Amino acid sequence: MRALVFKDFGAVEVVDVPKPQIQEPDDALVRVTTAAICGSDLHVLNGRIPGMTAGGTLGHEFVGVVEGVGSAVTRLHEGDRVVGSFLIPCGVCWYCKRGLFSRCPDQRVFGYGSFFGDVAGAQAEYVRVPKADLTLHPVHSHMTDEHAIFVGDIFTTGYECAVEARITAGDTVAVVGCGPVGLMTIIAAKEFGPSKIYAVDTVSQRLEMAQTFGAIPVDGTAVHAPTFIQDATDGRGADEVLECVGMVPALLDAIDMVRPGGRVSIIGVHSDPDLPMALNMTFVRAVDLKFCGTANVIGRWDDALEIIDSGRAHPDDIISHRMKLDDAVRGYELFDSREALKVVLTP
Ligand SMILES: [Zn+2]
Ligand SMILES: [Zn+2]
Repeated sequence: MRALVFKDFGAVEVVDVPKPQIQEPDDALVRVTTAAICGSDLHVLNGRIPGMTAGGTLGHEFVGVVEGVGSAVTRLHEGDRVVGSFLIPCGVCWYCKRGLFSRCPDQRVFGYGSFFGDVAGAQAEYVRVPKADLTLHPVHSHMTDEHAIFVGDIFTTGYECAVEARITAGDTVAVVGCGPVGLMTIIAAKEFGPSKIYAVDTVSQRLEMAQTFGAIPVDGTAVHAPTFIQDATDGRGADEVLECVGMVPALLDAIDMVRPGGRVSIIGVHSDPDLPMALNMTFVRAVDLKFCGTANVIGRWDDALEIIDSGRAHPDDIISHRMKLDDAVRGYELFDSREALKVVLTP
């Protein structure tokens, strides 16, 4: 079968690899009908997430059809349409038993290399899905692949950030970072009825998209964003700030932007070891910092599916490029250069 594989740091290629087989009783084999390229695939590509070896298949966002199941799979059957979670939990530990799947110490991730369980990715014609009863969610026949694929990662990730921000109707919200996850967070935040959502970024294409989703764009190249947000809120700051960048300067801006007693919900992936924060001022201002960590997609995807299925959210609006799996190398180039906002691949 065809698959997009890691070649070396910064390089991928589409090659023929053996078709995967069911290996464990709780596996399913899925024929992939749509896969997507995600920002975190780039972390694997550039080595920020180490442990990927040459020839490893990338990709953790997919929709497909179950082609076969192992003897222990009970919820799924051959022919079912499914969306996959990027995360594969163990299903039996203290955290998994409480539905806190993203805190599972034995979690694996599709296409993420040896430190994440060495599970082949889904940018391929077929993918083997461990713990299939948990890792796959059925998709209604009337829901398109391009809607469903967002539930397995980035829409549900944005939804988690919005839930953890505990937005109350009428609040003023600021979203820092309008990449794909930031844009999903804007859509998800609307579920909670804020009066205004400010969207902070430095890329005009992203700000325009944020505006189409109903947010007020704040161009960080033109204004000092924390001052702008404070000026727009009688000097207080936003009630909730949703940080979707994962860089120290963005997090410090988010802390500056929130009002005293407000909350910063952090879904950006942070890899720096330290945060040089004004601890005394943050204490006095009683800022609530909520680190979401890896999103609990499996714990929240029922809600995420309902929001999309009801027509209230259209995450597929961010799809900028549709291409064949065989052209996926070009898709990575477009995504890496930020020319593409979201790339979907079909066999
Ligand atoms: Zn992803
Ligand atoms: Zn577990």
